[in-house]
Amino acid sequence: MVDHGPRTGARVALTFDADMTDGMLASLRAGRVKSYANLRIIDLLEREQVPATFFLTGKWVKRYPDVTRRIAGNPRFELANHTYGHAAFTADCYDLPRLPVNELAGDVAKTFEVIAPYGGRQTRYFRFPGLCHDAAALDALAPLGVTVVDGDVVSGDPFATAWKPLVRAVLDHVRPGSVVIMHVTEANAAMTDEALPHILAGLRERGLVAAPLSEVLAGG
Ligand SMILES: [Zn+2]
Repeated sequence: MVDHGPRTGARVALTFDADMTDGMLASLRAGRVKSYANLRIIDLLEREQVPATFFLTGKWVKRYPDVTRRIAGNPRFELANHTYGHAAFTADCYDLPRLPVNELAGDVAKTFEVIAPYGGRQTRYFRFPGLCHDAAALDALAPLGVTVVDGDVVSGDPFATAWKPLVRAVLDHVRPGSVVIMHVTEANAAMTDEALPHILAGLRERGLVAAPLSEVLAGG
């Protein structure tokens, strides 16, 4: 289990979670929201050739196969696992629906199976929904050989109503080896694409360089 890489060098990891629950799918179907795939984030990262790592839920991949293909097709992007349907595996994890811990390994294995056919830079990194985990949840994952990645810089982008606080939250805490947590879920994180150019500029001012998560965790 890791929160960040070695505090040497200049690399930091920008990570984007792609949550998807049955409730979110219902909102899409009913037209209550337009999209949970923020293409402006991907456009910007591609245009500026910025590496990033995407923690994908199985249900998001199934809803957005074309976007997943685009992510997998970028050699600067890594793909990681964020459960199948963004359920919690501990009690009191925000308002997320809960799955019993004995279903965790199967859920995570199924998610890898959904992501794997897309190829690209596949990893064995895993992030718990809401970062909620305990000893039992970690034990349950041991047979899968995953690295659980929380992150040390929380942007606070879910349900944000202004972009400036996100920029401040990231730039006030980021340092070499940091793993920054953001979301690519648009309707649930509507300010992230507006904050991102300012975050990238702030990283440059601080002499920090975005890198794929595997390279940040390896250090150097
Ligand atoms: Zn999440």
